[in-house]
Amino acid sequence: MTDEISVDDLDFDPDEIQARYDYERDRRLREEGQAQYVPMADAFDVDEDFYAVGEDNRPPLDENVDVVVLGGGFGGMMMAVELRRRGVNDIRIVEAAADFGGTWYWNRYPGARCDVESYIYLPLCDETNYIPRERYSGQPEIMEHVQRIAETFSLRKAALFRTRITEVRWDEELKRWRVATDRGDDLRARFVVNASGPTGRPKLPAIAGIETFTGKKFHTSRWDFEYTGGDPTGGLHKLTDKKVAIIGTGATAIQAIPHLAEWAEHLYVFQRTPSAVGVRPNPPTDPEWAASLAPGWQRQRQEAFDAFFTGELTDLDLVDASWRKATPRVAEGLSPEDLAKQLALADMVEMRDLRNLVDSIVKDEATADLLKAWYPRQCKRPTFSADYLPTFNRPNVTLVDTSKTGGVERITETGIVVGDQEYDVDCIIFSTGFEISTGVGRIAGLPIIGRDGMTIAQRWSTELNTLHGHSVHGFPNWFFIGYSQNGLSFNYPWSANAQVEHIGYIIEQALSRGVAAIEATSEAEKDWVATIRRGSGPALQRMATCTPGYYNNEGKFGEGRGYGLFGEAYAPGVNAFRRLLSAWRDEGSMAGMSVQLGSVESDADGSTALQSAVAERQ
Ligand code: NDP
Repeated sequence: MTDEISVDDLDFDPDEIQARYDYERDRRLREEGQAQYVPMADAFDVDEDFYAVGEDNRPPLDENVDVVVLGGGFGGMMMAVELRRRGVNDIRIVEAAADFGGTWYWNRYPGARCDVESYIYLPLCDETNYIPRERYSGQPEIMEHVQRIAETFSLRKAALFRTRITEVRWDEELKRWRVATDRGDDLRARFVVNASGPTGRPKLPAIAGIETFTGKKFHTSRWDFEYTGGDPTGGLHKLTDKKVAIIGTGATAIQAIPHLAEWAEHLYVFQRTPSAVGVRPNPPTDPEWAASLAPGWQRQRQEAFDAFFTGELTDLDLVDASWRKATPRVAEGLSPEDLAKQLALADMVEMRDLRNLVDSIVKDEATADLLKAWYPRQCKRPTFSADYLPTFNRPNVTLVDTSKTGGVERITETGIVVGDQEYDVDCIIFSTGFEISTGVGRIAGLPIIGRDGMTIAQRWSTELNTLHGHSVHGFPNWFFIGYSQNGLSFNYPWSANAQVEHIGYIIEQALSRGVAAIEATSEAEKDWVATIRRGSGPALQRMATCTPGYYNNEGKFGEGRGYGLFGEAYAPGVNAFRRLLSAWRDEGSMAGMSVQLGSVESDADGSTALQSAVAERQ
């Protein structure tokens, strides 16, 4: 904890800073909000998988199975491991990519690296007896760990790779989900867990003329190394005679831009809002420290990271110093009003330091000014890089400000137009993010049809309704792992872990108690949504004043059906959410879920089939 901050000691006037924040925010608000983006499929060939090697000609499957997990990223892998741990072995993991890894399979752009420390970010380190080599692992090490998890828990034999779901439909008579795929599979699953992950679906700005560009174009999560040369560690040697444009300056671009600048003949960086970029080292793991870790170390560290954000933590040594710095701590024992004021001041101090850092590194004054972030740090994903800011001192790099025109205005056959200038380029790279909060109906991302013939997109078209973020009335035996209405963490795998443990428990219990169908009651959903809304007040207030982005529904926070990422979070935090779920499990009655019992017998293939519904209880 730091001492109380006095306004008199500051070298800036907080009111002036706030006025600048408001000005910068207001000029970035766009009437169309989330509608400024289109799914990638509308402008690009999304199905192209540059990374798949060889053929996969497996025959279509026609089978009963206890659980189908949709998605083989961290969420899906952790779910499968949890089910195995609980003795549920009859599972299938359906994955569009040619391997496990999810977001890390697709996001192998140069410089891709986890920005939360790998000791807490990489799942199942304790269980696989692995200590990451660096504090922030690069994509290759993360994919190595993905392989380690797959091998250790024999997940590969459960996987159907290169397989896209075409429909997931509840069959009331069978009391199973019919999972259809583009490979002709007919999987009849007692339970489905949707772990398709929000960062699996790239989004693009609906820029006029985007489809007319005749040069090379790709999204950062479909990096074409055939075109650029190199690999996730850099070395983009085929770009030496290319003029390259990158649109977007979020967490991804911060990592990729130094590599592009190193190799491209010329790099144009099209920026709408600058990221606030901190500098931090990435030391190799200290072997002595690694040797000193006792079993349970990872969970303790994961808990500590989130406990820090909610102020529950005292042992700060367990928390990455760069994230500690990015989050203000203030004197204890303040009234809620004074606390809010102190937090705002501490954040202004941190943001001032980051703007000063820009001045100390970037030589051209006008460029340095454009790179300064004028908003509270938590309005956008905090970013860190030692290489990003120095990139703008290179003669082959031009920063193009698009803030006055609400972003890139137009794309032509040969380049990009901003204001009255056209920039001719050979290649456009879209670093424009993912469908993380583009609309509740798009969250699940798949055609999932529940008991009454309604799709999950229709069910959520007016408002997101869940119990604990994972169960939905009308969608029996269907569970959702995601960002919304559960405990949110900057460390996403820790968020997913809470859900995975809980869903694993429910499925195990349902199977062992002969449950045919289990789903949230609509009353329980209403209560849970009310709990979320009650708690999200302060976050809504804070985020409403933020610069637009996916954290705050592009500045339309709380309007219509958009609450943004933080407005849908369980406010007390992910650790409190874990405690809440744990108490729910200890209570043992499946409170808030309707449970339909049925007699269950074994199929010839060893899986279970339901005979008849017997009883219903709340
Ligand atoms: P973001 O959504 O954070 O960034 C998108 C960028 O595109 C923004 O700079 C945005 O500007 C810009 N943009 C959008 N439309 C236009 C337009 N019309 N003209 C010009 N610019 C435009 O996506 P990222 O891929 O950078 O990051 C997504 C998330 O992925 C991160 O927040 C983080 O959670 C995760 N990530 C995690 C990493 C990890 O290590 N764990 C590493 C990298 C990413 P504006 O800000 O003005 O909207």
